[in-house]
Amino acid sequence: MPSARILVADDDPSIVQTMSWVLKEHGYDVVTAFQGTRVLELMDERTPDLVLLDVMFPDLDGYQILERIKGDDRFRDVPVLMVSSLPPEEAAVRTLGLGAADFVKKPFRVKELLARIQAQLRMRAILKSANETLRHVEEELERVREEAENRRKLVDILHDVTDDLSSDEIYHLLARRVARALDLTHCSVILARDGERPRVVATAFEQASARNFELELDRYPEIRAALDTGRPVLVEDVMSSPLYADVRRHWVRDGTTVSTRSVIALPFALEPTQAGVFFLRRSVNEPPLTPDDVEFADTVVKAAVVAVQRAKVLESTMADNRRLEVLAHTDPLTAVLNRRALTERLASELERVRRYDSTVSLLLIDIDHFKRVNDSYGHLVGDDVLMDVGALLQSAVRAVDVVARYGGEEFVIALPETGLAGATVFAERIRELIEAHPFLHAGGSQLHLTASVGVASYPSPGLETVEDLLATADQALYRAKAEGRNRVRT
Ligand code: GH3
Ligand code: MG
Ligand code: MG
Repeated sequence: MPSARILVADDDPSIVQTMSWVLKEHGYDVVTAFQGTRVLELMDERTPDLVLLDVMFPDLDGYQILERIKGDDRFRDVPVLMVSSLPPEEAAVRTLGLGAADFVKKPFRVKELLARIQAQLRMRAILKSANETLRHVEEELERVREEAENRRKLVDILHDVTDDLSSDEIYHLLARRVARALDLTHCSVILARDGERPRVVATAFEQASARNFELELDRYPEIRAALDTGRPVLVEDVMSSPLYADVRRHWVRDGTTVSTRSVIALPFALEPTQAGVFFLRRSVNEPPLTPDDVEFADTVVKAAVVAVQRAKVLESTMADNRRLEVLAHTDPLTAVLNRRALTERLASELERVRRYDSTVSLLLIDIDHFKRVNDSYGHLVGDDVLMDVGALLQSAVRAVDVVARYGGEEFVIALPETGLAGATVFAERIRELIEAHPFLHAGGSQLHLTASVGVASYPSPGLETVEDLLATADQALYRAKAEGRNRVRT
């Protein structure tokens, strides 16, 4: 399917360029305008699928443009996203009133902008003809040519947009961008760890099989030289370069036909133990690579390495933090909060309740005769049932409520902003839910269970601490058990 065409209009060329680059990188077809009248001209030339429109232009203002677009039958259902640094209350209300589809405040976050664009495009979902696809390819080629002339700017823009990406995505993006900017048929990124064979981690325009493939360094003397010296290596012609003397002998011996004409290997260092090489190639029927190409690619790669390092730090700290957080707070069997996390949450909840003169309630839920489940069906079935109970409780609560495993077959639900009466009603609902739930066990048949629930609330006379709250709920639970189980007590 042809990609959606987006018209980006802003009087600030750097914003137009950044937005247009980001959008292209996400597969959109982009046209740009710096002046209000140009927007209308471009719309006349070909109707875009979406317009990103600034409010301020030196000639026409965005409101006038929007009015003209929306007043024209041909464009009425083209979504227009207004982008402006004006306060939303001023610009948003006015533009939405004039028929804008959405309003995005500058400075925008790339991900948010993209999500909003996607939402608008999804709504419009227009199929384009095969003709348009053809035209799109021609325009794409033209744009690629234009971009090659504008290489320097790429470096600055890289700094702005790579923040949201993972290091892996950055490698792929770079391989593609460098290849396009230098009009290369081949560009790959190779990573090498101390003591390991270098691996290709990203490629542009090569088969997927070329990825993650280990390199035989004997066949790539320029990569070895780049890794050894830490400096860029340019081989303008592999047929005459002394660096390739040995490899040429291999080619002759093996009868290999070689399509590569010139190569650049650009080294970069990521960490003390990891290095990489950007490997660029042109084939025999293309012009050779030059020292200018080395200089340009090196500038891009240096900027990129900074971005990759940032992404790597971010990825690993986020992953570590997430893992630790989950481990520290979650009950491994049921995936609800564990007892420690519960008491922490209750302590901060009590603080909040005191400060805002609010309420919190607590349900202590104990499965009745749970020992019989273990005795009749075994511990593994008992475990499965407890997992089900956790999931059942979690699915029954509001987002603000907290479900925790208090111990064995006892669960706690904390209900912020809920008094004793409300909590008792909710406890009754939970009791009914468990009673009605068909727990399945390994044998395939259903298992029915009941639970007893003790309810306590804060504030209550004589109740001060988290321990008091839990003890009060526990006494209520004891009464529920004593009075015959499968009931709620306060
Ligand atoms: P009551 O109605 O008085 O609550 O009876 P009960 O059998 O549920 O109560 P009791 O506290 O005597 O027993 C709880 C049982 O829960 C004992 C224990 O083997 C079982 N249990 C506790 N934790 C786990 C667990 O993680 N997995 C399994 N399968 N069983 C557990
Ligand atoms: Mg118990
Ligand atoms: Mg029990």
